[in-house]
Amino acid sequence: MNKTISIVTLMMCVSCASSNATASVITDTNISKLNALILDGQNNHTVWPKSTVMMKQYLEDSDLFTVDVYRTKPTWKGESESQYYDLHSDNSQFHVSTPEKDLSFNPNFSDYDVVISNLGFKAASWSKGTQDAFETYMENGGGFVSVHAADNTFPQWLAFNKMIGLGGWGGRDESNGPYLYYDEKGKLIRETQKGSGGTHGKQHELQITTRAEHPIVEGLPAIWMHTKDECYGRLRGPAENITILATAHCTKDQKGTGKHEPMLMTVHYGQGRIFHTTLGHGSAAFESVGFITTFLRGVEWSATGKVSQTIPDDFPSKNKSQKRVFTLNQD
Ligand SMILES: [Zn+2]
Repeated sequence: MNKTISIVTLMMCVSCASSNATASVITDTNISKLNALILDGQNNHTVWPKSTVMMKQYLEDSDLFTVDVYRTKPTWKGESESQYYDLHSDNSQFHVSTPEKDLSFNPNFSDYDVVISNLGFKAASWSKGTQDAFETYMENGGGFVSVHAADNTFPQWLAFNKMIGLGGWGGRDESNGPYLYYDEKGKLIRETQKGSGGTHGKQHELQITTRAEHPIVEGLPAIWMHTKDECYGRLRGPAENITILATAHCTKDQKGTGKHEPMLMTVHYGQGRIFHTTLGHGSAAFESVGFITTFLRGVEWSATGKVSQTIPDDFPSKNKSQKRVFTLNQD
């Protein structure tokens, strides 16, 4: 799947006077990048055209990835970020007032090491053929990353719900699976009582607690502060082959659940790897150094099963979030 750029420099010593002179020097530099695909086009979060560009730029600036964007033709709620919308739209895209199914939506998943969903709440369902192709891609060892409201999508698609492990809204309830959270003693609770899946209170800075040893969170502080964001709670789903990497305390004073809710997760589906982050409501959340770092590490892990990236010097501390104001690269 990797695109490989091979640079071979061959320097010949044609007429060497010295008997021990090197006849030739060959330098072979292989720069191999991972191929990532961002899906977008329908999301209740109007920031989506910009957040696609932000994530694409973060990935490309890491020098680990090449990135393509695959957009639905009918697009929903992308108008307010027209500058960014235009970067990855062409004449085939058109705005719609309610999400519409795109029967032509059929990315060639197998061209990519990892697929990232920036789709959101109410995104129209995919054709059966595209669903089947994505399931096959994942069963055969594909990589998938679900960002924020991507876990609101496709409530009726069982395989997708198994991939994301937990999801919210769209009619999700106990029939989708248990509600997972951590109690005050640090114990993982799988609650099976009746109840809807998905809630959040007001946005606030989220204090994140690491809950597992895993390459994505290796070397991070045990507790760190994320910028102002929604604190997703009461997510429900099959929760099979899932590892909760980190939780946030959704505080009651901000109308949250009062629980330590899963924010960063991994799931295994067939031979495939999934990284699920519930972070990323608005621009400030996408500028969070905590978001950027865990996103980049999660994408790499989903693509390869490993993480090669170090922790940046500006990573947040226990009580102070950090953000990098986004500036679009000018090529
Ligand atoms: Zn949101």
